[in-house]
Amino acid sequence: MDLLWHDGKLLGIDWHVWKVIGWLGNLVFFSRFFVQWYATERRKRVVVPAAFWWLSLTGSLLLLIYSLHQRDSVFIFAYLFTWIPYIRNLVIHRRHVDAHVDCPGCGHSCAPQSNFCSACGAALAAAETRTAR
Ligand SMILES: [Zn+2]
Repeated sequence: MDLLWHDGKLLGIDWHVWKVIGWLGNLVFFSRFFVQWYATERRKRVVVPAAFWWLSLTGSLLLLIYSLHQRDSVFIFAYLFTWIPYIRNLVIHRRHVDAHVDCPGCGHSCAPQSNFCSACGAALAAAETRTAR
């Protein structure tokens, strides 16, 4: 109990709005590892879900805000440019999702550039649409 609550402080930390922002950033950023690990274990292959990039982006922005408040150049540089690959991965993910083809037979969302539906086997009109573009 003394470890949890010490000198009237939770975990011995002097809590104020900046500590909340910093620790929230840490929790969000750290949670992404569990999200990615869970997704990988579930599919039994290495998977990086979109949630991983959203958690990376949110966590790193909170940590950047905190580091700017702290005026720590090492800490600021560590999070200053990380948003670039996070946003780029989210854009590529969005384009991949949008490129899926809906099966006219069963409505199943098929992988981009599929010629046949993976659920019912129906031929997809995707090939014709691709040449028309
Ligand atoms: Zn189908």
